[in-house]
Amino acid sequence: MTSRVAVLGTGIMGAGMARSLVRAGLDVTVWNRSADKARPLADAGAKVAVDEAEAVSGADVVVTMLFDVDAVAEVMQRALAATPEHAIWAQTSTVGLAGTQRLAELAGRYDRGYVDAPVLGTKQPAEQGELIVLASGPRELEPRVTPVFGAIGSKTVWVGERVGDGHRLKLALNSWVLSITAATGQAIALARGLGVDPQLFLDTIAGGGTDSPYAQLKGKAMIAGDFAPAFGLAGAVKDSELIVDALREAGDDPVLMQAVHHLMSAAADAGHAGEDMAAVVYAFG
Ligand code: NAP
Repeated sequence: MTSRVAVLGTGIMGAGMARSLVRAGLDVTVWNRSADKARPLADAGAKVAVDEAEAVSGADVVVTMLFDVDAVAEVMQRALAATPEHAIWAQTSTVGLAGTQRLAELAGRYDRGYVDAPVLGTKQPAEQGELIVLASGPRELEPRVTPVFGAIGSKTVWVGERVGDGHRLKLALNSWVLSITAATGQAIALARGLGVDPQLFLDTIAGGGTDSPYAQLKGKAMIAGDFAPAFGLAGAVKDSELIVDALREAGDDPVLMQAVHHLMSAAADAGHAGEDMAAVVYAFG
C-alpha cells in the first residue's frame, strides 16, 4: 500500500506534482532547499519537513524532482539512510543516462527499490496531474508506484525493465522539444530580420501540416517577449548536453543537438538563464 509520499524538490515541477499528489488523497511531505518554495504547499495540505531526512522518514515512495544529477545525489546521500526499508525511490528529474546509472547504484547501496521515472510535460500539466510518466525498473515495483504516477500523470509508459529505459525515451522526446523550440526561434528571428511580421509565420502554419501546438505556444511567447519560466533555459542547456552525450553513446551524429546546445547556452550567457527556454530567440541576434 502506498499512501505516504515524500517530494524532494518543490521547484516549478515538484511543487505542481506535490499539489497533484495531495489532491489524489495521498499523505504528502515536501522538502525544498530554499524553504520559501516549500512553505506555500502547507496551505494545499502537504506537510513541510525541515530537512530531507525528516521528509523521507515515513515514506512509502520518495519522489525526487531536483535540477540535475549532482543535486539529486547530494540530497539522496543525506536522505537514503532515513528511508524505511520498504521505501521506493521514484526518480523523476532529468539526469541523463550516466546520471541514472549513478543514482540507481546509490539506491542499490542502501538496498532500496529504484524506479527511473522522468516526465514529459511542463508546469501546467504538473499542477493538473497530467504529466506523462516514462517509467522503467523492476516490474514488481509497478503496483507500489502506480498511485503516485496516477496522481501526477494522465499516462504512464512502462518503457522497459532496464535501468535508464525511461530516460532513453525521455532524451529522444526532449531532443524533439528542444529542437522545435530552437527552430521556432530561428523562424521568428529570420522573419523579423527580413522585415516581415513574425506573427505571420505562426498564422501561416496554423492548422496546416507543418503546424505544432508547441511552436504556437513558444512562438507566441517569443513574439510577446513573455519568458516566465515553464521549461527553464538553464534546464534546456543541461538537457541538450545530456542529449549530445546520448547521441554519441548511440553512435548517432550529435551535430544538430550541439547547435541547439550552443544556442541555448548563448541565450543563458546573455542573462536569460532564469527565463523560459523560449528566450533562445535572443541567441539569433
Ligand atoms: P526548477 O524550478 O529550477 O527547480 C529545481 C529544483 O532543484 C529546486 O527545488 C532547487 O532548489 C533544486 N536544487 C537545485 N540544486 C540543488 C542542490 N544542489 N541541492 C538541493 N536542491 C537543489 O526546475 P524544474 O523545472 O522544476 O525542473 C526540475 C527537474 O525536472 C529538472 O531535472 C528538469 O530537467 C526536469 N523537468 C522539467 C520540466 C519543465 O518543463 N520545467 C519538464 C520535465 C522535466 P532551490 O529552490 O533551493 O533552488
